[in-house]
Amino acid sequence: QNEALTQLQTLPNLTRDGEPFELLANCFGPEDIDSAVQSGAQGVGLLRSDYLMLPGKMPDEQEQYFYYTACLAAAQGRPITVRTFDFGSDRTLANVYQGEQSAHLGLRGIRSSLRQPRQFETQIYALLRAGARGPLKVLFPMVTNVEDWDAAMRIVERCRQNLRERSVPFNENMPFGIMLSIPAACLTAEEFIAHGCQFFTIGTNDLTQYTHAAGREVTSAERYFQPASAAMRKLIRMAVDAACAGGIPINIAGLAVGDPANLVQYLQMGLRSFSMSPQTLLDAKRVLLEADAHVL
Ligand code: PEP
Repeated sequence: QNEALTQLQTLPNLTRDGEPFELLANCFGPEDIDSAVQSGAQGVGLLRSDYLMLPGKMPDEQEQYFYYTACLAAAQGRPITVRTFDFGSDRTLANVYQGEQSAHLGLRGIRSSLRQPRQFETQIYALLRAGARGPLKVLFPMVTNVEDWDAAMRIVERCRQNLRERSVPFNENMPFGIMLSIPAACLTAEEFIAHGCQFFTIGTNDLTQYTHAAGREVTSAERYFQPASAAMRKLIRMAVDAACAGGIPINIAGLAVGDPANLVQYLQMGLRSFSMSPQTLLDAKRVLLEADAHVL
């Protein structure tokens, strides 16, 4: 069985009806990027940079730079999309991802970064510099509206200007995008493109949570947590249509993407780029090879 799955790696990524697809991994750092590459990942669709914080201390610019360049080395030339720190009142330095139920509606993701611009700048400097060493893209989490986007990009431009003045090598053209994890952002997706957003990643974990008002760790609300509900399908279609019309790439990430039933639905909604846990990559490939992207 395992050998058969490994043989799958050599087959081209084409659906039964001939549509190309891309399989990316959600990773935490160089070690699991290495194993994702061995499982056939074409890149890292979501690098959860906040794991860098787990020791409970904010790394300085140089430490972050080393982490991103080590990730690039592990990916061996494959692209990596780094999500900027996603912590807030529940995901603090001390308890990132410990799953407290409060504050999912509060100061998280880009909201928190915009409140702590020095910390955010440190991360942006490290990313812009690491971007000169390999194909990095940067993703902002928990973006609600174009005001968030504009504010974040003003900080990015300030960092670029500073690096130019100091003649520090960096990637002038590194793409910046947003995570679509809030319905308000899906409903206004085209506005982000008009304001310069270069790619979208749908975050199914959070988008499911916020669409159905069902906390991702709240077991009593489990039956409302439906990553491919009619409501989710409408929001996802809106995002796909906006990305198509604006000519920007769109990817979908989150636990639901590793589930074959959801995966095929997402494919048939027009998605072609999927990011998931490295362990589910080969199974996902098998499912997509046998699926039709176009249904009558
Ligand atoms: C998501 O929200 O779908 C996602 C992939 O992000 P995380 O689970 O890291 O919050």
